[in-house]
Amino acid sequence: MIKIVFSFLCFALLQVTAQAAEVNVYSSRHYASDDDLYAAFTQVTGIKVNRIEAKDEELVERLRAEGKRSPADVLILADAARLQAAQDAGLLARVDSTILQTRIPAQFREQNQHWFGFSVRARVIAYDPYLVSEEQAKHYETLAASSMKGRVCVRSGAHPYNLSLLSAMIVNEGEAKATAWAKGVADNVARKPKGGDTDQIRAIAAGDCAIGLTNTYYYLRLVNSDKPEDEKVVDRVKIAFPDMGGKGTHVNISGGGMVTYAPHPTEALKLLEFLATDEAQGYFADGNNEFPVVAGVKVSNDALNGVASFKADTLNAGAIGALRNTAAQIMDKVGWK
Ligand code: FE
Repeated sequence: MIKIVFSFLCFALLQVTAQAAEVNVYSSRHYASDDDLYAAFTQVTGIKVNRIEAKDEELVERLRAEGKRSPADVLILADAARLQAAQDAGLLARVDSTILQTRIPAQFREQNQHWFGFSVRARVIAYDPYLVSEEQAKHYETLAASSMKGRVCVRSGAHPYNLSLLSAMIVNEGEAKATAWAKGVADNVARKPKGGDTDQIRAIAAGDCAIGLTNTYYYLRLVNSDKPEDEKVVDRVKIAFPDMGGKGTHVNISGGGMVTYAPHPTEALKLLEFLATDEAQGYFADGNNEFPVVAGVKVSNDALNGVASFKADTLNAGAIGALRNTAAQIMDKVGWK
């Protein structure tokens, strides 16, 4: 009898262990290289990763609706503005991790440890060098200059990438100057803002406009592509790292945090800490052309290494994210739809 009870207890324990060895991730990243990233985590820890991928707003909405019943342990989003919005909605737990605090620079994590950046991207100017000089391309102001009337291609002003850039300008140069810049860009568009960053690069290559904005990984993806049509695009379109009034190019992050009611907090912490390892950082850099957030990680992506030594703005990602509503109001006011 004792033996039977003992075996039953062992079995029950095994069940608990087996059930616990998984982590549920809600991610808005949709890159093939992330499959390898999570597979590597499972290989190292034995923890299975169940991933649900959807658009940022959908994931946040889903988390809100699920509340305490949510199966989600980890939320991964692109851009500090979105992560800050998730935190403000009470969806992210505070995570005390010496590993994360030591590995990730303070600039790229929320000051009370609710979310952490795991990869860095710069918001740069894409331009046609036959129409825009290298000097002009080094300034965000050029996009708003009267000489660029009808020559600018940009995505929606409501998109977090543009909201965060404007937020950084508000902090660095003041609200009046940032508003004037946004109005200048809105007045200069060659067409109604539409599509993603890659669409703006392609539009410049097609001659629809002379200048635009893109996150670095979209351009580098085209550089690393072996499709003839992409090669043609990068032959024509160049990028420049603008120096925002001497402060440096605006940089942002893709990152994540632990969900407030995570059913597997131990596994969630392990995953978050894994994302800051040299191994995981390499997947972001080599697989998706993003800059590692951790210093000194060896990167074999030549195109990424080729542009890595630029002056980046040192503004805190949380400070940028906190201004998203002010930035959105300005975009609305100036008509950058
Ligand atoms: Fe993106």
